[in-house]
Amino acid sequence: MKVLVAVKRVVDFNVKIRVKSDATGVEAANVKMSMNPFDEIAVEEGVRMRENGSADELIAVSLGTVASQETIRTALAMGADRGILVETDLGLEPLAIAKCLAAIAAKENPDLIILGKQAIDGDNNQTGQMLAALLGWGQGTFASNISLADGPGENKAEVVREVDGGLETVSLKLPCVVTTDLRLNEPRYASLPNIMKAKKKTIDVMTPEDLGVDVSPRTEILKIEEPSGREAGTIVADAAELVEKLHSEAKVI
Ligand code: AMP
Repeated sequence: MKVLVAVKRVVDFNVKIRVKSDATGVEAANVKMSMNPFDEIAVEEGVRMRENGSADELIAVSLGTVASQETIRTALAMGADRGILVETDLGLEPLAIAKCLAAIAAKENPDLIILGKQAIDGDNNQTGQMLAALLGWGQGTFASNISLADGPGENKAEVVREVDGGLETVSLKLPCVVTTDLRLNEPRYASLPNIMKAKKKTIDVMTPEDLGVDVSPRTEILKIEEPSGREAGTIVADAAELVEKLHSEAKVI
């Protein structure tokens, strides 16, 4: 079984996000960048499949500038076999990313594609769903467990999904698309020997044009702004004062 994982380079989750002074986006210059946390979970799941013998090959794909090679190297150090970089300097929308991933799927014929449920930069939560629709494959989003039914003629994945009211279990015919939720697993840290080994693994580089995908934007971002800060609260001396303020100032009682 061949597994493809999509890994995005994003601002590290520990960094306090700052909006650019021209309000066109989030400041990414001179900021620590890392693999999107949900994608680390996707890689970990693929590596576990590789280790328990259910997958024969794990490919990590990233779309972005040449710096995304670093993110692919991290996936390779965690245990992916090879990487694909779709190189572009344009900021891609989820639809363009899904189209590129669909074009790669057409070349590579994976049995399973694992993505994060969302990238923590744009919080779009769209790419996996769009990819499944473009490919006409089933999708198991927000996965907290994936089990593969092996055995002759049993090309199925059972995915437990985190939904509002609890957990939903779906059975999907392979090939399918799965997106990861936080509780699926705890990603490993790459060991130093594996980081060294990852340097020798292959990363194929291509462009969206090579894949025949038009990545021109469909939406225009008008403005990005920080949420307004909370106003300071007031400390009241006793319940009577609280009731009085709720009545005369807040006018809620
Ligand atoms: P989004 O729909 O933007 O929230 O992203 C959902 C998931 O799609 C991410 O967790 C990644 O697995 C994948 N993805 C989004 N953008 C990229 C990218 N530029 N390169 C690789 N994977 C991506």
